[in-house]
Order: sequence, then structure tokens, then C-alpha cells
Amino acid sequence: MSDARQAIVVRSTGSWYQIKDDQGVMYDARIRGKFRLNGKTLTNPVAVGDLVHFEIENEVENSALIKDILPRENYVVRQSPRKKHQLHLLASNIDQAMLVITIREPNLKQGVIDRFLLMTEPHDIPACIVFNKKDLYTEEDIKLYDYLSEIYTEIGYSTYLISSLVEGDAKKISETLESKTTLISGQSGVGKSTLINAIYPDLDLRTSELSESSGKGQHTTTFATMYEPTADARIIDTPGFKGLSFNNLEPMDVAHNFREFFKYSENCKFNNCLHREEPGCAIVAAMEQDQISELRYANYLQILEEIEDQNYWERHSDL
Ligand code: GDP
Ligand code: ZN
Repeated sequence: MSDARQAIVVRSTGSWYQIKDDQGVMYDARIRGKFRLNGKTLTNPVAVGDLVHFEIENEVENSALIKDILPRENYVVRQSPRKKHQLHLLASNIDQAMLVITIREPNLKQGVIDRFLLMTEPHDIPACIVFNKKDLYTEEDIKLYDYLSEIYTEIGYSTYLISSLVEGDAKKISETLESKTTLISGQSGVGKSTLINAIYPDLDLRTSELSESSGKGQHTTTFATMYEPTADARIIDTPGFKGLSFNNLEPMDVAHNFREFFKYSENCKFNNCLHREEPGCAIVAAMEQDQISELRYANYLQILEEIEDQNYWERHSDL
């Protein structure tokens, strides 16, 4: 047996990784060779949260070589924002995921919640949705929150309405982070860093001012990073995203990851039903009887169409 030791990956840039051993010693680590996931190349074979075996390469420089990755309990993966044909691992071995969004500044992007849930649902990772910046919401916005909150609570995702600028609100969120490893994600500018700082002032993450011309936040986080702000809470802060696409999913995967469909879809006439125009579709029937949210269903159709378009061009990439 070699002298390989175990560490956890706390930062992943794609070319090097920061790992932390059992004693809390940090190393800059590299990995050799190419790694694939479900047949697709990964922009970063090692994810934040991975447990790895490593060997010290240079004691003085605290550099290390990752020898292998221990089996993952779960992971969250998305299409690489830069390389359309590659996958990007956001994190692994997490207990829950938190999506931070806002209805104002920047305006809520239709479908963003459902797209996010397509990343957590394949591994049944519990997810919650935090609506931030409530101090900016109009009465109409609050109604929209109530509407969305009901849809998502009904199917088992908790929602919170908060302002990062209000102390008591940050405390409410901090309670959900206790004793867990939580992946925290959000579109750029939603106030994710402000919220994390409000909960854990010692972390002092960089926040950005909204750019006045675009109303959009600038990127502050470039790589996913794990923090251990208290003895029992671990958070993984991820780069703010613009959009979420899914080259890793087939149309049927999308259907399988809308969790409330499951109960009804076994009653669809065809077992490969994609719940569109097929006769005898139990999902469409459930939606017409208000048992499935119309909004969720509309987003489902939109994502499905997008994936089919993308897959079409990938299959015909020689045209
Ligand atoms: P991130 O990109 O999601 O990390 O967003 P930041 O934390 O950098 O915040 C973007 C901007 O939103 C900053 O100007 C923050 O001061 C502002 N912001 C964050 N939370 C709130 C909030 O609850 N209410 C208001 N009005 N502004 C907020
Ligand atoms: Zn169906």
C-alpha cells in the first residue's frame, strides 16, 4: 500500500484543486489523466466535496497529486457554460441545495427554478428556494411569490421570502444550514454573497454592485468553493450563473425529474409517454384538473423542446 492519504476538495478550478486533509492542512493539488462522466468529457474531473486520496508532491510548496476519487454519494452537474459539449461538476456529497433568487433586480427569469431542480432531482437532493430582496417587491411581486411558494411547497421544496439586509431573515436561513453540507447557487446579482456574509460575517465574500446600465450583477465567484463557517455547517458557494442548459439529459430524463409527474405518469397509456400530444396522457389530465401546476408543465415543455433541438443538432453535427 502506498502512503496515499485522504482529503476533501474545497475548491475546484478545473486545472488545479485545493484540498484539505484530516488535520486541516491545505494543499494545491493536480490530477493526471482524462475523466469522463456518462460518456461526456468533464471540464473539471474533480468536484468540490469530493473525497480523494492524494500524495504529497512537494512538501515545501504544499503541492499534492490526487491519486483517485472516492465513490460519490451524489453530485450536481450541469452543462459547461463555456464548452457546450462538456459537463461541469458543481459539487458532490452534499446534503441539500439552496437556490437564491429574486423577483426584482434582476427580474426573475422564467423557468430558472425548474432548471435548477433538474440538477438536484436526479440524485434526490433536497432543495429549497430563497426569494431574496423582498424589500424591493411590490404588492404584485408578493402575490407572485405566494403563487410560486404554493406550487413548490406542494411538491416538497421549501421556500423562504427574505431580505439579506434584515438580520432576522439571515438568521432564519442560517438555521437551515446547521449540521449540513449545502450547495448554494443563484443567478449573478441575486444577493447570494450578501446573504452568506449576513449569516457568516467572518467569511467576508466579495459582493458586487449592480451595474447600472444592465441591471445585472457582475461575476464575483469564479469557482465553486467550500467553506466551513462553523463547526458543523459546510457551504459550497458556486459561481453565479446566467442560464442553465442540459446536454446531459435526454427528453425522458426531464420527465423523470419533474417529481410530481411520477404519481400520475404510470397511468399514461404509453409507457414512453413524453406528456405532450400522446393520447391517454395522465399528466395532461392531471394538469387540466389542477393537480399539476400549469406553470411547471409549461416549463417542462419548453425544456423538452430545447433539449430535442440541441440533440437534433448534435446528432447532425456533420451537416
Ligand atoms: P451575488 O452575485 O448573488 O453574490 O449578489 P451580491 O451579493 O453581490 O449582491 C448584488 C447586489 O444586490 C448588491 O448591490 C447587494 O447590495 C444587493 N442586495 C443583496 N441582497 C439584497 C436585499 O435583500 N435587498 C436589496 N435591496 N439589495 C440586496
Ligand atoms: Zn403522459
